[in-house]
Amino acid sequence: MQSLGRIRLPEPARVARHQYRILSDHPSCVRPKYQSYSTASICNDTAGPPQYVKIVEVGPRDGLQNEEKAVAAADKIRFVKMLAEAGCPAVEVTSFVSPEWVPALADAAEVMSEIALWKKSMDHLAAEAPATEFSVLTPNLKFFNAALRAGADEVAIFGSASEAFSIKNINCSVDDSIDRFREVLSAAKQNDIPVRGYVSCVLGCPYQGHVPPSAVARLSDQLAEMGCREISLGDTIGVGTPEQTVGMLREVQSAVDISVLAVHFHDTYGQALANIYAAVKEGISIVDSSAAGLGGCPYASGASGNVATEDLVYMLHGMGIETGIDMEKLIDASDFICKVLDQPTKSKAALAISSAMKRSS
Ligand SMILES: [Zn+2]
Repeated sequence: MQSLGRIRLPEPARVARHQYRILSDHPSCVRPKYQSYSTASICNDTAGPPQYVKIVEVGPRDGLQNEEKAVAAADKIRFVKMLAEAGCPAVEVTSFVSPEWVPALADAAEVMSEIALWKKSMDHLAAEAPATEFSVLTPNLKFFNAALRAGADEVAIFGSASEAFSIKNINCSVDDSIDRFREVLSAAKQNDIPVRGYVSCVLGCPYQGHVPPSAVARLSDQLAEMGCREISLGDTIGVGTPEQTVGMLREVQSAVDISVLAVHFHDTYGQALANIYAAVKEGISIVDSSAAGLGGCPYASGASGNVATEDLVYMLHGMGIETGIDMEKLIDASDFICKVLDQPTKSKAALAISSAMKRSS
């Protein structure tokens, strides 16, 4: 055994045997047993970490949008359904944007409509299990109306803490982008649709480099004031480290209640899980991730994309934090989409657990 202060870590081989036993004893639910490592001592040092973290699964949108291979609508629909069946409380399904900008998302209405119909057909089960919320990205009022017709539960708008990124990416200043959001937020309010606000480039920008935490706090405050129920802080290029994450979060918390803040990390420099750990210790209780680590980084060709949901679930359950997600079913969903894309998973936890399951069968 290695030791790290008061926390004793099992050797890798022991972890594998432990998983083997868990998986064979509990084929349909490995989740609660991952808490048996008794790592609660990690959490008890501060009052910060929550008991439950809501994971927002962004693989079908953020992930697939940044994969090179096109995926058929039927496969996207099946992937989203499998994620919901694994217990994901929120899934970002697609993005309503002009097909000229992103041809791969031309099927947004078809995919969202099919998922909404499926959810409706499952209404009778809602009393037994909390229903998954399905969200879509909508950059303006025209696309908001299309998302509404397709039956989305929630819509998301996308702003940047970096002035340079805003101008390059959405062709307007940060302040002008806020004006565009106002009409989406007002239409959403009229239709009783919750809105999620994304803030990109919270720890660095591909065009201007440093992004001051005060700019992140300012935009987050504006989005909260306008009525966003959740604000997701994204390290779009994955350059941040845990210390920077904590510094940025403390600045944002001075403007916005931490209960509405989510974090969205990319693993470009291998810092995503460490950053999430630091954020959760600060009291963050909403985290975005992507099954199988789908997605890449448009600013660093070949680099890793979003943090993998399986790795995040493994870490949170190991901290004694509930997610409501069934790891085995989550890996089934990831396996499915990796086969469709004809590529291996980027999740280390999925690789280890799948390997242990194969040995046990
Ligand atoms: Zn992302």
